[in-house]
Amino acid sequence: VVPWRGLRVCIVGARVVGISAAHAVRALGAEVTLVDRGDDATTSERVAPLYAEGVRVRLGDDATLPDGCELLVVSPGIPPRAPIVAAARKAGIPVWGDVELAWRLRKPLPDGSYAPWLPITGTNGKTTAVRMLAAMLGAAGKRTVACGNIGLPILDAVLAQDPYDVLAIELSSFQLHWTESMSPLASAVLNVAPDHIDWHGSLGDYTRAKGRIYENCQVACVYNVADDVTRELVEDAEVVEGCRAIGFTLGAPGLSMLGVVDGILADRAFVEDRQRTAAELGTIYDVEPHAPHNIANALAAGALARAYGVPPAAVRDGLRAFRPDPHRIAFVASIDGVDFVDDSKATNPHAAAASLAAYEDVVWIAGGLAKGATFDDLVAGAARRLRGAVLLGADRSLIARALARHAPDVPVVDIGGAQDGLTGARAIERAVEAASRLAAGKAAALGDAAADTAPVTVLLAPACASMDLFVSYGERGDLFARAVRERKAARG
Ligand code: ADP
Repeated sequence: VVPWRGLRVCIVGARVVGISAAHAVRALGAEVTLVDRGDDATTSERVAPLYAEGVRVRLGDDATLPDGCELLVVSPGIPPRAPIVAAARKAGIPVWGDVELAWRLRKPLPDGSYAPWLPITGTNGKTTAVRMLAAMLGAAGKRTVACGNIGLPILDAVLAQDPYDVLAIELSSFQLHWTESMSPLASAVLNVAPDHIDWHGSLGDYTRAKGRIYENCQVACVYNVADDVTRELVEDAEVVEGCRAIGFTLGAPGLSMLGVVDGILADRAFVEDRQRTAAELGTIYDVEPHAPHNIANALAAGALARAYGVPPAAVRDGLRAFRPDPHRIAFVASIDGVDFVDDSKATNPHAAAASLAAYEDVVWIAGGLAKGATFDDLVAGAARRLRGAVLLGADRSLIARALARHAPDVPVVDIGGAQDGLTGARAIERAVEAASRLAAGKAAALGDAAADTAPVTVLLAPACASMDLFVSYGERGDLFARAVRERKAARG
């Protein structure tokens, strides 16, 4: 139990999570200082309401520890190497993330029990799987919310006036890095591929951070049968006695697995007689879009729901009610037989690989900030499907070189980046134009044969972060969709 009254707490990062933490800890009577490196107008505006609560705010310096600080709480974006973290470690002061704080501040339900946590992490698919899980829990009549790295901070979810029965939680590797005492009912790692190496320092550290989601797990550790790393993380975890390892696979499920049999989503893990029977959780057509990676997301979410006791029919109803968030393989329009698809959320090579794999003939729009990633595996894997590539943004030359090595025959158009004086809007417009030209040439070359095959797809799946040219992946996707619609309108 933490003696909050009078405790001197420093919170790093004045965005949604940091501000929510400041409110919560101040309400318990702690002496709170909120620090942020920014001292611009937007930051000042965001923190303004905190003054009235007696929170101290220090803007323009997030490196030095306030005098007398007894606990440091860091927002998800703060890297482990940050000077203020080093200072706290040196002084022997505990460092918590927002998830650790939320776990310790949980409010009990009326019967004195605590709402179980069902967290999901992974390099890709987190948001989608968490929303699917929330839909399944909702279909089972439970009061729940999708929270964590997904809009609603987890702290707000655990302190809600009217408590939730169960929480569907998205956790990033950043958040997991700081997590110690959390004991989930069941947790899942969807997949592990290189991403955010710049933040964590190495792939090993990134992977270990993800693995923390399984620590102290009570009922089920859900792993991806096709991804050995996820299974190894389960093996390395210290779990509560009786906790089971549950796999999900796109193939037929073995014992203690969920998988697919003749298009049916089959659960052989949470049924009485696992030797013989499987519960049916709907079909692959209940999953939208029913691309392979997304069926995997549905099975992972289904495993967590089943671990909590959701009946099979509610898993299916939840899937049917689920709608994907924007910018995740979203169909925009078809122009002259060419489909335009917005997967702006594919911000790393692993995500882009999954969406490229969902189409046969692709003109690929890619590029942006690589965050330390490499593109050889991605390009080598997709080469067969690529009919053209259009590159933009800061690290586009890395992709160009991978294309030259693994797909030398694929035509490439270089649009340029911010250094060439381009705005995001202009870059995307040009990219759409160039991609349309490549796709039109390809459609013509395929000729009549194209009539009975799948259409050529122009796919925005950048494999990179967006911030060199855009405010966010959302803006990148919106500008893409706008450019496509304008083009369609212009064609009458
Ligand atoms: P996250 O929250 O982990 O970023 P999202 O659900 O928002 O994941 O999906 C991000 C992108 O990752 C999607 O646009 C898609 O390209 C890709 N993706 C989704 N699920 C998977 C998966 N299971 N494996 C690989 N890529 C995926």
